[in-house]
Amino acid sequence: MKGQCLCGSISFHLSIKQLDVYQCFCSLCQKQSGTQSNFAAIIPEGNFTFLSGEASIGHWTKESGFTSQFCMHCGSPVPNRLRGKPYYWVPVGLIDTGVNANVVSHIYKGSQRAITNLDGVEVLDEFPDGGIDEHIAKLSRSYVSD
Ligand SMILES: [Zn+2]
Ligand SMILES: [Zn+2]
Repeated sequence: MKGQCLCGSISFHLSIKQLDVYQCFCSLCQKQSGTQSNFAAIIPEGNFTFLSGEASIGHWTKESGFTSQFCMHCGSPVPNRLRGKPYYWVPVGLIDTGVNANVVSHIYKGSQRAITNLDGVEVLDEFPDGGIDEHIAKLSRSYVSD
């Protein structure tokens, strides 16, 4: 299976048939992903190949060693080699094709901040029929000033 960043500069190939994935809810992954958790796979180095764009990868490393790598053009988080281990960390959202993924673990669940209320959630397979204006109206209706 193949994957790429948002702009397509950085692409890669995984020589695997299915994915075992995890979600990490730690505070660093929340910042790095911009959402409630990272959703990622750990792929043996022998099954991972960069196809393009390695020169476009930006790096940021915290003192603790936590590393974020991202496309310098579009900002997508991109695969990075695990410190001292023969594996790559791969964000699942970059994979292009439909993925048969087993969720193996949720870690740092105790750090989850965005506790979501799913009661009454509207579930749509595509963008709402009413278009962007209706979407915005639904999401902003509770923010009327008093
Ligand atoms: Zn990109
Ligand atoms: Zn994390």
